[in-house]
Amino acid sequence: MPAHFIDQELSHLKDTGLYRHMSLIQGPQEPKVTVNGKDVILLCSNNYLGLANHPEIKEAAISAIEKYGFGSGASRLVSGNMELHEELEQRLARFKGTEAALVFNSGYHANIGIISAIVGRGDIIFSDKLNHASITDGCLLSRARLIRYPHKDVEKLERVLRETGKDSPVHRFTDSPIRKLIITDGIFSMDGDISPLKELSELADKYNCMLMVDDAHATGVLGSKGKGTSEYFGIDNPNIIQMGTLGKALGCFGAYVVGSRKLIDYLINKARSFIYTTSLPPSVCAASIAAIDILEKEPQIRRNLWDRIEYFRTGLKNAGIDTMASETQIIPLFIGNANNAVKISKHLFEKGIFVQAIRPPTVPEGTSRLRITLMATHSWDDLKYAIKTIEDAVKNVCMQ
Ligand SMILES: *Cc1c(COP(=O)(O)O)cnc(C)c1O
Repeated sequence: MPAHFIDQELSHLKDTGLYRHMSLIQGPQEPKVTVNGKDVILLCSNNYLGLANHPEIKEAAISAIEKYGFGSGASRLVSGNMELHEELEQRLARFKGTEAALVFNSGYHANIGIISAIVGRGDIIFSDKLNHASITDGCLLSRARLIRYPHKDVEKLERVLRETGKDSPVHRFTDSPIRKLIITDGIFSMDGDISPLKELSELADKYNCMLMVDDAHATGVLGSKGKGTSEYFGIDNPNIIQMGTLGKALGCFGAYVVGSRKLIDYLINKARSFIYTTSLPPSVCAASIAAIDILEKEPQIRRNLWDRIEYFRTGLKNAGIDTMASETQIIPLFIGNANNAVKISKHLFEKGIFVQAIRPPTVPEGTSRLRITLMATHSWDDLKYAIKTIEDAVKNVCMQ
């Protein structure tokens, strides 16, 4: 087999500090974990509310396995649509205050499925440059024209919307109007800043575009009830397609989209990553239902997260560390050079702090960083130790 390119590519990745490997986490997901045999403070999990090992969620999953077994056996449209799938969807719609919801097997599935179902060849997508990779992949899969606007730059976006509005409003192939979609992360996954959703919502209405927000990191975190970016800004626009995930703050697995009953019926018929895949195990749905219950009855968990965000960001700021534009539980430490980012990450690991270096292609060239993520369950002592240790590491490691 002519696999020479594999050796070449691997050594290139190693030379440039871009080689990736997996760390082994032993035991459950907790604010402190054992990694490759070493006990460390976990500062790079998206289990923001610490629900991944919550007793009520485990109990819900176990009971569901006892009642329904494990596998679902088929896709939703064949024979894999079980009671817990529909119950989770009703629960999500109620939680988000929308007519209907649809569950996908993951956020990646949701994004590639939704985007490629609502736009196609000849249509136009306006996507924030820092949107998640799964959004970009969905855009490419749709074969619509992809315009990536500068990060959060609503003025530039409006200029492009105005220009493209002059093009023929009618589709080259189908004679129907061209569809336009603005799409944005709610909380940007590698920068921790929040999308200007209110302005985007106004632009979408003004220029007759669809608008989709990816609340992967905002679900359970933003808004007074944790409903996500729309709630945070007090936007009540039923036309926004709100997607989010169940595997991050909710500590479970899977993803959802909420909107009108019509939108959901359309996606059931058109979203290929929904149609052509085995549905989630029912126990996974039961876990997510329990997680939403916890979210609603224990708002203190979210307050605990936000108290830690405030404390940690202030601590780093006082230490003179560049946390970029972070406004949330995702706190990047700007390093720049990929090799230096890896070096600091390794040093921190030695000191008992587990945080990953995030490098291209996940982030733009020259913007490598440590991406710290906080959890509602981190102890104050651990966070205090982490701030001090990070301060020393950032100031010393790269100077050697
Ligand atoms: C993690 C993430 C996804 C993918 O969700 P999974 O359920 O992990 O597949 C999609 N969008 C954003 C912004 C994410 O951060």
